[in-house]
Amino acid sequence: MFEKVLIANRGEIALRIHRACKEMGIATVAVHSTADSSAMHVRLADESVCLGPPAAKDSYLNVAALIAAAEITGADAIHPGYGFLSENARFAEIVAAHDITFIGPKAAHIDVMGDKITAKETMGKAGIPLVPGSPGGVDTTEQAHKVAKEFGFPVLIKASSGGGGRGMKLARDASELDNAFNNARSESKAAFGDDTVYIEKYLEIPRHIEIQIAADSHGNVVHFGERDCSLQRRNQKVLEEALSPVLTQKEREKIGEVTRAAIEKLGYLGLGTIEYLYENGEFYFIEMNTRLQVEHPITEQVTDFDLVREQIRIAAGEKLSIKQEDIAFRGHSIECRINAEDWQTFTPSPGTITDFHAPGGPGVRFDSAVYDGYRIPPYYDSMIGKLIVFAEDRPTCIARLRRALSETVLTGVKTTVPLFQRLIEDPEFQAGDYNIHWLEHWLESQSS
Ligand code: ADP
Repeated sequence: MFEKVLIANRGEIALRIHRACKEMGIATVAVHSTADSSAMHVRLADESVCLGPPAAKDSYLNVAALIAAAEITGADAIHPGYGFLSENARFAEIVAAHDITFIGPKAAHIDVMGDKITAKETMGKAGIPLVPGSPGGVDTTEQAHKVAKEFGFPVLIKASSGGGGRGMKLARDASELDNAFNNARSESKAAFGDDTVYIEKYLEIPRHIEIQIAADSHGNVVHFGERDCSLQRRNQKVLEEALSPVLTQKEREKIGEVTRAAIEKLGYLGLGTIEYLYENGEFYFIEMNTRLQVEHPITEQVTDFDLVREQIRIAAGEKLSIKQEDIAFRGHSIECRINAEDWQTFTPSPGTITDFHAPGGPGVRFDSAVYDGYRIPPYYDSMIGKLIVFAEDRPTCIARLRRALSETVLTGVKTTVPLFQRLIEDPEFQAGDYNIHWLEHWLESQSS
C-alpha cells in the first residue's frame, strides 16, 4: 500500500480523498494555489505545497509544479480527484514516468474515452448499446443529410472532442440540418481545435442513467448499480438519486451485467462510470467518465461501500475487496449540489460565508470544505458542498432531505438551497416523473 498520497485537487473532493487515506493509514500531501492557502484541505493534510497563483492553469493544472511537489514530499501516488487533470492522459503518463502511481485508469483508456467517436466505436464492439447514428465522423452536409434520412429526424450533431455540451446542435428537420451541421463544426473548432462531428438520433425525453463500475488489475470487474442524474441544467447535474426511481430490478441487473462484461472485455482499470440515456425501456451509451465522480457518495450510501478506499486499493495493485454477488442495494439516497449561486439566475456569488452550520442527524452526510468565515474564491467552480441523504425508501429520503435543508445555515453568499427546497415539493419530482429536460422547464415555471 502507498505510504503517502498527493491529492491534486481542492475543495470537498480533496477532503473526501484525504479522509479515505487517513482511514487507510496513508499520509497526505495537499497542494494549493495562493488563493487557497487557508483552505480546509490544506489545513487537514499532513503536508502541503503551494503550486502557484490563483488561476487554475498556474496552479491545479500546473503539471511541472505538481510533479515537483510529489517528488519533494516523497509521495508515492497522486490522486487527481475529478475535474482539473483527472481525465488528462498525458498527465497520467507523466506521473507514471516519474515512478509515481496515478490513482486512475491506464492513459490509453483515458485517451479512448476522450474522443467520442472512438469511445462509441470501442464500447459498441465491447457489447454496449449505442444511440443509432453515423458509424464515424461526418464530413459534408450531403453526408449529413444521408445519415439523417437513414435514422430519421430529429438528429443531434455532436463534436467528437466535445464536452460540457459544446459543439452539440439539434436539427429537427432537413431545413435545419445545414445550419446545425456548420454551427456544430465551427463551435467545436473554436472550443476544442477540432471540427470532427458525428450524428446521432435525438432522443426526445430520455433519462440520464449511469452505471458505476470498479475494475482491478487482476481481471475482476464489478458494478455498483445505477445513479439517475436526469435533473440537469445546461447539461450540468443538479440533483442525483440512487437507485433510479424508474428501473425495475430486472432492468438494473441486465444493464449492470452488460456494462460489467464490456468493461471486463476492455481490460479497464480503476473506477469508471458509463453514462446512458434511457428511453422506453432501452439504454443508449453516451460517454464513459474515467474517474471518480462528484455524485459517487449516493452509490456509497445505497451499497454501504467506500468507493474511494477501493479506488486507492486497486491503484496499489490489490484485488477488488468485493464480489458482484456481495453487492446488495439498500434504501434510497439523494445528493443535492449546493452552489454559491443565485438559485434563479445561477449567477455565481463568491464572498465570505459569515455563518455556517452543516445539517446532520440520521442518514445525513454533508461533503464540503467550507467553514465559518471561509472566503469562496472567484477562480474556481461554485460548488460549495454536497448534501447527501440516505433513508430506507424514497419518500422517507425526501422527508429527510426536507429536514436537512431546513437545518442548513450558509449565510453571506447566495446558495442553491432554496432551489432544492422548492424542487422537492413538486408533485412530479415526488413521483419520480422527470426526464433530462424536466428541470429546465421547471426552472422557467419558477421565474414566471
Ligand atoms: P458532453 O460531453 O458535451 O456533455 P454528452 O454526449 O455527454 O456531451 O451529452 C451531454 C448531454 O446532452 C446528455 O446528458 C444529454 O442530456 C444530451 N444528449 C446527448 N446525446 C443525446 C441524444 N442522442 N439525444 C438526446 N439528448 C442527448
